[in-house]
Amino acid sequence: MRIILLGAPGAGKGTQAATLHEHLNAPHIATGDLFRAALSAGTPLGLEAKGYMDRGELVPDDVTVRMLLERISQPDASGGYILDGFPRSLAQAHALDEALRARNETIDRVLLVDVSEEELVRRLSGRWICRACQTPYHAISNPPRAEGVCDADGGELYQRDDDTLETVRNRLGVYRDQTAPLIDHYTEQRVLARINGEQEIDSVRADLLAALTQSHG
Ligand code: ADP
Ligand code: ADP
Repeated sequence: MRIILLGAPGAGKGTQAATLHEHLNAPHIATGDLFRAALSAGTPLGLEAKGYMDRGELVPDDVTVRMLLERISQPDASGGYILDGFPRSLAQAHALDEALRARNETIDRVLLVDVSEEELVRRLSGRWICRACQTPYHAISNPPRAEGVCDADGGELYQRDDDTLETVRNRLGVYRDQTAPLIDHYTEQRVLARINGEQEIDSVRADLLAALTQSHG
C-alpha cells in the first residue's frame, strides 16, 4: 500500500509510522529525516535545507520533490511506502500525482492525524528524538524507560533545534497556509481518512489501523 500520513508538526506522525511500518512491511519515508541525514552527512542538499529548517519554512518544492521521487524509486519502496511529512504543499502533491500517474500507481490512503494547536505546542516542546533511529519520545506523555536513552536501540536522545517555541509557531503557520489545503485535495480524490490524534497513543494507533482496513473495502 502507498500511504500518506498528513498532520501538523507534532501531530504524532513519526510515533505512529513505526506501527504502520510493522503492519504494512513498507518503508517509513520522512522527508524531515532525509534532510537531517543529508545535513549530518554534510551534503550540499543538507546545507541548502538547513536555513529553511532553522526558520521553520518549507525547503523549496523542486529540491524536496526531486529528493522524494528518488527515494520512492529505490527497490525497497517498490511494493509501497508510508510517507511522513510529504507532500506539504499543493505543488508537491501535484508533482507526486503526476509521477504516480506515469507509473500507473495511486495513493491508497491519506491518514489525517488531527490535533489542536495548543496540544501541538505542548507536544513539540517536550519532544526528544533518538539520534540513531529517530524514534520520538515525550518528556511527560511518552517517556523512555531510562532518561536520555532510546528504548529501541540505546541511542542518545536529543531535542531538535527547530522545536523552540518561536520556530514551532512559524511551522504551525506554514502548516495552516501551505499544507492544510491538501485536506481538500485528497478529499476530492476520495482517499482521505480523518483520525482524532488527540487521544492516547494506543487509541490513535487503533483508529489508524481501522482506517487502513476500511480502505481494503
Ligand atoms: P515535523 O516533525 O515538525 O513534522 P519534519 O521533521 O517533518 O517536522 O520537518 C522538519 C523541517 O524539514 C520542516 O520544517 C521543513 O523545513 C523541512 N521539510 C520536511 N519535509 C518537507 C517537505 N515536504 N517540504 C518542504 N520542507 C520540508
Ligand atoms: P510528528 O512526526 O507528527 O511531528 P511526533 O510523532 O514526533 O510528531 O510526536 C510529537 C511529540 O508528541 C513527541 O514528543 C511524541 O512522543 C508525542 N506524542 C505523539 N503522539 C502522542 C499522543 N497520542 N499523545 C501524547 N503525546 C504524543
